[in-house]
This record gives sequence, structure tokens and C-alpha cells, in this order.
Amino acid sequence: MATALLPSSPFSDRLRRSFRGVERSLLGSAPSLKFTVHKKLSHAHGLKTRAVYGDVNKVEIPRQWYNVVADLPLKPPPALHPKTHKPLKHEDLSPLFPDELIRQEVSDDRFIPIPDDVIDIYKLWRPTPLIRAKRLEKLLGTPAKIYYKYEGTSPAGSHKPNTAVPQAWYNAQQGVKNVVTETGAGQWGSSLAFACSLFGLNCEVWQVRASYDQKPYRKLMMQTWGAQVHPSPSSITNAGRKILQEDPLSPGSLGIAISEAVEVAATHEDTKYCLGSVLNHVLLHQTIIGEECLSQLEAVGETPDVIIGCTGGGSNFGGLTFPFIREMLKGRMDPLIRAVEPAACPSLTEGVYTYDYGDTAGMTPLMKMHTLGHDFVPDPIHAGGLRYHGMAPLISHVYEMGFMEAIAIPQTECFQAALQFARTEGLIPAPEPTHAIAAAIREALHCKDTGEEKVILMAMCGHGHFDLAAYEKYLQGNMVDLSYSNEKVQASLAAIPHIVP
Ligand SMILES: *Cc1c(COP(=O)(O)O)cnc(C)c1O
Repeated sequence: MATALLPSSPFSDRLRRSFRGVERSLLGSAPSLKFTVHKKLSHAHGLKTRAVYGDVNKVEIPRQWYNVVADLPLKPPPALHPKTHKPLKHEDLSPLFPDELIRQEVSDDRFIPIPDDVIDIYKLWRPTPLIRAKRLEKLLGTPAKIYYKYEGTSPAGSHKPNTAVPQAWYNAQQGVKNVVTETGAGQWGSSLAFACSLFGLNCEVWQVRASYDQKPYRKLMMQTWGAQVHPSPSSITNAGRKILQEDPLSPGSLGIAISEAVEVAATHEDTKYCLGSVLNHVLLHQTIIGEECLSQLEAVGETPDVIIGCTGGGSNFGGLTFPFIREMLKGRMDPLIRAVEPAACPSLTEGVYTYDYGDTAGMTPLMKMHTLGHDFVPDPIHAGGLRYHGMAPLISHVYEMGFMEAIAIPQTECFQAALQFARTEGLIPAPEPTHAIAAAIREALHCKDTGEEKVILMAMCGHGHFDLAAYEKYLQGNMVDLSYSNEKVQASLAAIPHIVP
């Protein structure tokens, strides 16, 4: 029974070919970059000091977030003003964000303390479990060890509250009364609605039309936590009205919904904007995942050989991997770090690295990132959280430096992997982390071929309890693999502003 679920295509080394190890060694030999990545020092070095050995889930909640920028040999390129194309100034962002979040966005500090109030709320679900997938290993017959860091225990069911709570808190501290945002699959909207309910903030969410219609339960969660939800495109904003004029039946996209929320924040004195991924401060807040996980692995005396996570905007992936990249740069470990994106929206593997807008209407700052073009609307795959045209500038930069690699996987392989995972480990994953699971299974099967006893660490960033319609599609045999259309990408890339970095 179990073997019927095994993927038919064995793991290939496709990835390794595209891996930027070449660039990594080039960088390593450049005179300005004085780091060397040592091969696998034993755990006895450095990593064993912070936790009580053996007690994997009794670690302390980290007291600070980690800013990877402080340790990168090259600083990431600055964000630019959308009109003047000059590097952004603090006051350019003030209409959208509270001061402390703007400071975090451009900070060079290595660590940023987590406010006590935020720690107090984190305690509702943190530390999150680190679990060894022994039954999945057994099903696969692999000598590899698979660990997953599970973020689905938060109130909203994913990693998103890790940043929603501090974002709402900093806004409340500054006396802000209203925040607006967009949501694709509904995970971010529900996380921010939850966080706002804790601090008495009004929260308004533009939810991508397709998901608004297909995911009534996420909408109801947001409303239960007191938020107001609009389908996007909406007739409330100029950006939305313009899209509706061209296409009254537009299913919407994350890029369109961002334009609407940003427009409302920019034109209302008393309203700020929150974003659930992509920005530096969001990735910063998510590093609590990786910091905690370092302590947990230390407690069982393990060092990861491969770290895998799915990437939409890059926040759960960056959150888990950045602290490990620090350890790698210090020479304490040398894990292969692998991002997994959907074949239908492959910004890292197929996009170009250039300045582009974060939204469809071109109202956000220009960010240097891997992008498929800001008006690219990906096909409606089930992993709504991975349907974003760009990648976090920080992830894009780290990728360019060769500290990580990326692959794209079609959705049926992901759901096949999800079923193997659900039927061995019990948890039903959100459609997004099924990409990480599929890649971890590929890696584990590769280990089975080679006999390597690798330690695989995987980001299991959320549960799929509100995504069962996608499982229904898969179980009924009606799920198809969607690819991206090359013409569509070329057309949207042609609309990117030409900026010489
Ligand atoms: C939002 C979301 C994602 C995608 O966003 P990232 O910033 O790439 O993490 C992935 N998984 C889940 C469960 C999400 O809610």
C-alpha cells in the first residue's frame, strides 16, 4: 500500500547542476570576502552550549531576532523610490510603516531584541515543535534522518503570526489605529487579524478574489478576529477600479491586492500598511524559527546536511535558514540550503534578478529581486501563498551570493508527497509546505540510492485544515500540473522599469 505512494521519478541531481556553488567558490576566493566554509565540523564545536542535551522541545524562546545582513560579505542593494529611482529615505516609508519597523528594514545590527510583550504572546504557541519524521523515513526506506520544524501550532496555523504580532505591536506603540493589508490564500490576513485583535487595532484586508470565493473559512477566521474583508480587485480603490474596468471578472492576484492596500494606507493619514512576507523586517521576525531550531538540534546533537523550505515571498524559508547561514559563515556547519518553489510561479529558478515593483500598479518601492514581472499573474495553483511574482530581496541576494540553491516542483508531486507525509506523520500540510516535503522526499530517496545518512531539516510552515478542497481535487484525480507560460513571463518582464543598478 505504502509503496504505491512513492514518487515515480527518483531524485535527480538536476539541482546540483544549477547550484551556484561555482559562484560560491568564486566569492570565497575574492580578496574582499574573507570567509571560508569549513566542511562539517563535529557538533562538539560551538553548537553545544545553549541547550540541555536531549530535551528537544524544552528550549528557551529566543530573546532576539537575527539580522543576516550584518554577516553578509556584500550588503544587499537598496530599495529605490518608485518615481525618482533614488535610494529610499526613512520619510518615504513613513506613510506606510511605523518608525521602528522602518529602522528594522534598513538595520545593520546583528541582533534586534524582541519586546517582552511580543515574547509573552509568542509563548501562546512557542517554542514550536521540532519533530523527527521517523515513520516517513521508514516508509521511504532511507538511511537519512528527516527533521521538520512545525509552525502550524500558532493560532492562525502557520508561521505568519511570528511577524503579524510584532508588526501590530509596533503600530499600536506608535498610536496607529488602523492597519490595512492584502492576503492571498488567507493565511496572512488571518494572522494579522489575530494580532490586531490583541492590541485593539482595526484591520482591513483585501483578499484575492479567487481565494475570497473559494476559501470562505479563512475569511470567516478574519471576521471572527474582528477584521473587515474585501475581495480584490475591489471598487474601493483606484487600482482596483482600473483592473475591474479592463476585466470585470478578474480573479485578482497578490500584486493587485497589494496595490489596493498600499493605496489606502498612502492616502489615509491614520492608516498604516502591513506586509506578510518579502520585506527585510518580515524575514527578520521569522528568524525566531531558525534560532529556536538551532537550539533544538543542538539538544539532540544533530547538524543539518540539507535544509529545505518552500518559498513564496521567502519569509518562512529565510526565517528558518538565516541563522544556519550565520553558522555556516562562521565555519560551524556547511549545510546545503535549498528553496523550493512551484513550477507555475518560478521566480528564483526562471525569473530575472533586477529592480521591480512589489505590486501590480507600481506604487511600492523598487526592490532588486528575482521577478517574473510585476504584472505577471500566475496560474491558479493550490499553493496560493506561493503565487507571488517576486522573491524577497534578501533571499534573492543570498541566492546570488551562492549560499543557497533553488528548484521548482509541479503540484501533483507535492500533493503525492503530502499524502505520504499525512499518512505517516499524521499532520496534513498546507499546500505551500508540500513543496518542501516533496523536495525532502527526493533528497531522502537520493540518500537511499547512495547510502548516505544525511540529516535533512525541513520547514513545515503550516497546516492545511482550510485547504482540504485542494486535497479533494487531488484525491479525485482532478489536479493538473500547471506550468508558467513563457510568453506571459516575457510580456510581463518587458514591462519592468529599466534601471541600471
Ligand atoms: C504565506 C505562506 C507561505 C509563503 O510565504 P513565505 O513568505 O514564502 O513563507 C508559505 N506557507 C504558508 C503556510 C504560508 O502561510
